Amino acid sequence: MKVVIIGAGLAGLATAISLAAKKHDVTILEQGPRVGGKLNLREHEGFQFDTGPSILTMPWVLEKLYQEAGRNLADYLTLVRVKPEWRGFWPDGSTIDMDADFVKMHDAITTFGANGQQDLLAYLDHAKKLYDLTEKGFYSSTIRHLGDLRKKHSLRELLAMNPTRSVHQNTQRYFRDEKLQQLFDFLVMYVGSSPYDAPAVLSQLGHVQLGLGVWYVEGGLYQIARAHEKLLQELGVTIHLNTKIAKIETKNDQAVGVLTEEGEHYAADAVVCNLEAITAWRTLLKDHPKREAVVATESKFSPSVSGLVFLLGVDRQYEQLAHHNFFFSKEPQKEFDQVFHDQVPADDPTIYIGVSARSDPTQAPQGKDNLFVLTHVPPLLPGETFSTMEKRYREIVMKKLMRMGLTDLDQHVQWSYTFTPDDLHALYGANGGSIYGVVSDRKKNGGFKIANESPDIEHLYFVGGSTHPGGGVPMVTLSGLLTAQTMQDRLETAVRR
Ligand SMILES: Cc1cc2nc3c(=O)[nH]c(=O)nc-3n(C[C@H](O)[C@H](O)[C@H](O)COP(=O)(O)OP(=O)(O)OC[C@H]3O[C@@H](n4cnc5c(N)ncnc54)[C@H](O)[C@@H]3O)c2cc1C
Repeated sequence: MKVVIIGAGLAGLATAISLAAKKHDVTILEQGPRVGGKLNLREHEGFQFDTGPSILTMPWVLEKLYQEAGRNLADYLTLVRVKPEWRGFWPDGSTIDMDADFVKMHDAITTFGANGQQDLLAYLDHAKKLYDLTEKGFYSSTIRHLGDLRKKHSLRELLAMNPTRSVHQNTQRYFRDEKLQQLFDFLVMYVGSSPYDAPAVLSQLGHVQLGLGVWYVEGGLYQIARAHEKLLQELGVTIHLNTKIAKIETKNDQAVGVLTEEGEHYAADAVVCNLEAITAWRTLLKDHPKREAVVATESKFSPSVSGLVFLLGVDRQYEQLAHHNFFFSKEPQKEFDQVFHDQVPADDPTIYIGVSARSDPTQAPQGKDNLFVLTHVPPLLPGETFSTMEKRYREIVMKKLMRMGLTDLDQHVQWSYTFTPDDLHALYGANGGSIYGVVSDRKKNGGFKIANESPDIEHLYFVGGSTHPGGGVPMVTLSGLLTAQTMQDRLETAVRR
């Protein structure tokens, strides 16, 4: 089968690896100057920055991808476990280390007056059960809706996922202390959703992060993109960079190829689109007769949060920082309400700082730190821009960090680079600048994402954060793996007929 893939984000690359391993003829067309999509990099005078993902979880998904191609991941990448997993800072000066070492974690949470061991054990046990259930169904095939999920589970299993409860309601059942609730609730921001709206099944992230661990790739996470590119070369896949697709070509509601902005045609038996599905319907399929009907379903799949990112090369080290750090807000419910319901940046945002130099001295010059500062902000509404807010919001973020212990931070910035929601939209086609694709919301979509196989156009597939199973490095990799398998199944069924 001849396949054209639009976009060399992690999902596009994973689909290509899996299809090439199944002996299909694959070509990737990427608009940017290098592969990786949101997993990207910036470098300046010895400061190295991953500009997108900095937290790697569920490394088994990458291992599975390489196994499909008959390779061993360890021959391409060196993964190291990050310790502690996180450090949390609250405005009142209290801190906590989130640590998979149970004794350390137990001691840490006991100082918050919680019921210590029982609370944590019961919570982690529950999170693991949710994860195991998800692995059996949601992570194992191209699920489109509840009907598909039902085929994978007994009713008892579906009910065990607490479909009507939110992540926050779940966290409250295990921890009475509000700071601990905030700590565990915040994990769901890792997939760009609000703990007050996201389905309880996402409480599994406690197990994902503490049970399976938080990982780093030696040399920075961009090494994943480099490794995929090397493997694709070995598998004979053609990658054209700086090649923007203008149109997905169809005939009788079947995808038959793509047209580049330069006017070049690539014919194909199947087209895989790694550009977010909603953006693709607005741009690459804007003249298709089914567009209006598809666009009418958009509100169900509204974008996840976006982000304001500052890459700061600083001329000193802030010893109090671990590899991953959260600077929490005083009032989490207000913060989430502002971002997810009022759709305005929070007055007092939680701020994430990643310092890969803590685990890997090659990431910053000696005695200096590479700070990746991420504040989640609402996705842009159509026609909106973040540029009018950028200066004021930068001040809010920098002042908060200085207030919370990063003394004179603004004086120590030697090099700085900013990504706004506008940049995420312009660089990668992310809807509203979304970081993780589609939001997980019990009421809007029940946590289901856009289907990988287009129900409207035959031989057209969508992969990546806006599609099943969702955003983040492991999920988009799974979307590629699962989609490639579905394509193979379709082909085999057609051959048998
Ligand atoms: C700031 C930030 C922090 C993040 N932190 C984490 C984290 O810590 N851990 C984690 O797991 N995940 C994190 N994520 C999310 C993760 O990066 C994404 O879920 C994942 O990388 C998305 O991959 P993708 O394949 O879905 O799409 P993308 O990476 O968006 O790739 C889409 C590709 O399609 C290309 N493209 C678009 N339009 C066209 C066109 N017309 N023609 C040709 N090519 C086109 C784009 O250039 C791009 O390369 C973060 C993301 C961001 C932005």
